[in-house]
Amino acid sequence: MPYLDYVAGSPVDDRVVEEMMKYFSHPGNPSSVHSLGLEARNVVEEARNKVSGLINADSSEIVFTSGATEANNLAIIGYAMRNRRKGNHIVVSAIEHISVINSAKFLMKNGFEVDYAPVDRFGKVRLDELESLLRDDTILVSVQHANPEIGTVQEIREIREVVKAALHVDATASLGKIEVDVEKMGADMVTISSNDIYGPRGVGALYLRKGVRVNPIILGGGQESGMRGGTENVPGIAGFGKAAEITKKEWRKESERLKEMRDRLIDGLLEIEETFLNGHPEDRLPNNASVRFSYIEGESILLSMDMEGIQASTGSACTSKTLQPSHVLMAIGLKHEEAHGSVVFSLGRWSRMEDVNYVLEKLPPIIERLRMMSPLYMKKKSGGD
Ligand code: PMP
Repeated sequence: MPYLDYVAGSPVDDRVVEEMMKYFSHPGNPSSVHSLGLEARNVVEEARNKVSGLINADSSEIVFTSGATEANNLAIIGYAMRNRRKGNHIVVSAIEHISVINSAKFLMKNGFEVDYAPVDRFGKVRLDELESLLRDDTILVSVQHANPEIGTVQEIREIREVVKAALHVDATASLGKIEVDVEKMGADMVTISSNDIYGPRGVGALYLRKGVRVNPIILGGGQESGMRGGTENVPGIAGFGKAAEITKKEWRKESERLKEMRDRLIDGLLEIEETFLNGHPEDRLPNNASVRFSYIEGESILLSMDMEGIQASTGSACTSKTLQPSHVLMAIGLKHEEAHGSVVFSLGRWSRMEDVNYVLEKLPPIIERLRMMSPLYMKKKSGGD
């Protein structure tokens, strides 16, 4: 069954599962002073080394969290609360993940001012507009590295040059697909997640550059150097470490393979009439093909594809319950009906060219059938507007 929804969830690599199995029933708490506790502590610290090694950070700069959502919350809310005396203005890009947008909204309710940096029609942050939003009391700017819905990759280095305030980068979608190097980015905080590199779900991390101070948002017994309370998820963290180790070795080759499949998929999809690419044509994730089909609804395309065994998505699985058009697609200037006709195909480690070929064989008749049921399309066909 062609699975093209890696952006919503990825299988866990067998090598990772094997590593995690060693620790599922291990009783050691990393905070205990006895030898089983020490064993668990070593597992966590070894994983911290591997995760930091993947993004060119120091292991002391990694805080393990329950995922990217928590890491984004910690970065935005934790930084703003800690550094409130320096100013109360923050800027986030208009196409951030909902966990960043909602953290910013939370801050707004708590006396902060928030501005949204607009993007162009390809989803690139407009540098000049971003610059014009920056003020003396701006303490934090948050811009994602790549967008999981439209695939667009941002120029973080260029953004860093104009931002004097702290810079947070959500690299959840880009890790393992393109280079994520915290030094080259010049970021102060970077969010990453385990499942996006074929580790377990419910584990992530925030890179906190040395000297950057945040308030913890999960309060407990001072774990993670006081940055995140709660007993560590030892098997999950061990799995994240293993996934990071594998990704470090394999991502470049893997990305080349993904790119080849993505390009064939995009070329094939765009052969269907009135089909358009969402996001940037070149600066995009190697595993993302996001397109919109005029006159029909993404949801009906998904259901029809599902009956053929193809799984994809209409956008972010995290916000699919709201039935609102995606804020990302609205921010790149799509009309409601265009946003609703969008489908995201995302590829990953187990995708094969056969999957792509299968989609390209099955999808055109689906689109044709759905359009035949679309009054708008039929009106156009018969020479109406
Ligand atoms: N940021 C981005 C860019 C994402 O795509 C996601 C979802 N995978 C998240 C944050 C949140 O991740 P999680 O649901 O694992 O917390």
